[in-house]
Amino acid sequence: MSNVQISNVVKRYGAVQVMHGVSVDIDDGEFVVLVGPSGCGKSTLLRMLAGLEEISGGTISIGGRVVNNVIPKDRDIAMVFQSYALYPHKTVFDNMGFPLKMAKRPKEEIEEKVRRAAEILDLTKYLDRYPKALSGGQRQRVAMGRAIVRDPQVFLFDEPLSNLDAKLRVTMRLEIKELHQRLKTTIVYVTHDQIEAMTMADKIVVMRDGRVEQVGAPLDLYDAPQNVFVAGFIGSPSMNFIHGAVALQGGRKVFVSDKGLELPLPDTAAVEGQGVTYGIRPEHIHVGADGVPVKVVVLEPTGSETQIFARAGGELIDAIVRDRIAARPGESIGFRIEPTRVHLFDRNSGRRI
Ligand code: ADP
Ligand code: MG
Repeated sequence: MSNVQISNVVKRYGAVQVMHGVSVDIDDGEFVVLVGPSGCGKSTLLRMLAGLEEISGGTISIGGRVVNNVIPKDRDIAMVFQSYALYPHKTVFDNMGFPLKMAKRPKEEIEEKVRRAAEILDLTKYLDRYPKALSGGQRQRVAMGRAIVRDPQVFLFDEPLSNLDAKLRVTMRLEIKELHQRLKTTIVYVTHDQIEAMTMADKIVVMRDGRVEQVGAPLDLYDAPQNVFVAGFIGSPSMNFIHGAVALQGGRKVFVSDKGLELPLPDTAAVEGQGVTYGIRPEHIHVGADGVPVKVVVLEPTGSETQIFARAGGELIDAIVRDRIAARPGESIGFRIEPTRVHLFDRNSGRRI
């Protein structure tokens, strides 16, 4: 069993506290992504899991064993970093076999494990090459191979794709996901990129300022973000937010923004007069004559879709549509908002209503 339990973990550097009681449960074989803006504590948490950083409070257990005082090499985990740090004067074979050589494993075992990892990663024909004769993606695969040969209970990845160009990132994303489907080993993966998190994770942990904001399956976070922060962080382009309050009109609840823009509301527990933040994703706004009248500001066509930035009652709202639209900047069109797709948050606490 290689489930991981992080319970109420605290981290202080001297007088500065950077982790404020973080708890995460990771199931055996699960692919968990820690995501959040730079500086929120992702790497620190991963390094504490690895044992590279002491924890100031709480417990971490791996496979049912508390590892707070277990040194890194006895934790049965393997870590892959953003800078893959291969030995330039060693071949791919020797780079991959290095952890086993350090552990003084027999030659035949090293040979067998490196060959198996090379096969999994499609590196067999490069085993005699040196890192400088490899592409960025191949080097990253060698770094993963070095982790695989150790056959760990848990893989830890810290932004392993950040140094690669956009196209290669997409390819490697697929490869890592496929690797997980084959090996079924527990993975804890850190990234600041919400698209990576959405596409790879079984479970996402959204962090901010040393705290967990929400834990859930990717689409659950997308459909029901628990607060404004998660709502704005997950999804691209980002959710529109408009500040205002709930009003009653003819017995029906509507939203009225600070600048006087009226927008439709779903059935909601929000009460008349309550200050709220109105959230609607660009993909849940459609163009239609019966919609809210808006004036087009900028159009951004990408070929497959068009993003429309428009102004209504002083608010800037963007929509994204699959069709090509003929409207030009300055023209008036209608934005049809799907009421069931509206997210309402309490204005003061930021919490979902
Ligand atoms: P992330 O990986 O999410 O970008 P980090 O885990 O690297 O964030 O950092 C979390 C916080 O801890 C940051 O505020 C950072 O400045 C602080 N921090 C990290 N390492 C140290 C250290 N060795 N000494 C003091 N503060 C640190
Ligand atoms: Mg980091």
